[in-house]
Amino acid sequence: MPSRLRKPSILCSLGAALVIGCIYLWLQRSSGPADHPSVPDPDPRLANLGKAPDWNALKQYDGVLSRDEFDTALQDIYLLGPNRHFDITNEGVRAASTMSQHVPRVAFAQGKRRSPPPRYWRSASELPPAPEGRPLNGVRIAIDPGHIGGEWARMEERWYQIDETTPVTEGDMTLLTAKLLAPGLESLGATVTLVRSSRNPVTELRPGDLQNYAGRLLSGAPEEKIVSLSERMFYRTAEIRARASLVNNTIRPDIVLCLHFNAEDWGPHPEKPRFSPRNHFHIILHGAYLDSEIAHEDERFELMHKIFQGTHEEEAALAGVLASSFLEATGLPAYLYSIGRPTKRVGPALWARNLLANRLYQCPVLFFEPYVMNNQEVYERIQSGDYEGKREVAGSIKKSIYREYRDAILIGLKTYYESRRASE
Ligand SMILES: [Zn+2]
Repeated sequence: MPSRLRKPSILCSLGAALVIGCIYLWLQRSSGPADHPSVPDPDPRLANLGKAPDWNALKQYDGVLSRDEFDTALQDIYLLGPNRHFDITNEGVRAASTMSQHVPRVAFAQGKRRSPPPRYWRSASELPPAPEGRPLNGVRIAIDPGHIGGEWARMEERWYQIDETTPVTEGDMTLLTAKLLAPGLESLGATVTLVRSSRNPVTELRPGDLQNYAGRLLSGAPEEKIVSLSERMFYRTAEIRARASLVNNTIRPDIVLCLHFNAEDWGPHPEKPRFSPRNHFHIILHGAYLDSEIAHEDERFELMHKIFQGTHEEEAALAGVLASSFLEATGLPAYLYSIGRPTKRVGPALWARNLLANRLYQCPVLFFEPYVMNNQEVYERIQSGDYEGKREVAGSIKKSIYREYRDAILIGLKTYYESRRASE
């Protein structure tokens, strides 16, 4: 029957096309790095793997802020140097651009201000009253366990191992902390999503997909430098951009908690790391752009969203309470950056820096940096693993390092939302 004959023949040609396609892809891969369709060409006017801004999106902020409010945020929080890239008049602000001829001026509020356009995150004061005992009721929280784990940890250089002891792998430690934290937040009423829930990367790109891009950035450089840059662009740039897409388009949380463990320089040999006598804590907020960063048009665009959404206000208020609970729960001293580092001090243990995650996630972001992984006591705590209750470790009775981390966040968030939200 004709219909019987036709169907298999279509399937056959589809199958043949599939086989040819697979052979083509395999040949492309085996004959060297290929351009991945989602990897743009490098453009010095944009941050690495950045996209040209749609400046018209800023028109929604017309009449939302006064000139004074914009200026104050720009100078106090976001810029380290003088303003060279924003044309500010009494009427409004326009970002400089050589990529687009039609950058609109965002009008400042003159007298009565317009109510801000909708955004996906809500501040504590915008949330409805919470039932008794559930201060985080309905708060959408994304937990972002920093770095990647397992086999990727060595490439990221967030890994060391002494003899046959348990490897110290930041990406696995942050994931363990995240998995302990999530049910604790849920029991306070929050809706929790993990941005990374396995030891694998979130991005589908791999270093090979980024080798051409890295090669164009480092034209003429030795092969090993290009390979090393393509690896860094994989585990840092592409990975965080993939997480940002998940955060902004799918999870759309009220806050993001980026979990990290800090480290001091452990030298060139991860199998013979140098220990540091130092151990400390800080939280990183968003701000403190270097001139070379604000020179990128996409960074300028992302910065304007942050200012017009009033993100810093909620972020700093949250971080202030979280910093207090951390300093108390861990007994760690507040970290001080050395002079000359591109940072702004916001408060005790609070520092503004222009990190990619903090910039791209379009909501308040708390980036935690407790514990120095190559401090002797921290190393011993990591070797003791996770356990319930308290045990003697490194000469005193302690909770597991992961549960101490979790509890500091739980106490801080509970305190913050209890004090800022009405109860039912
Ligand atoms: Zn980290």
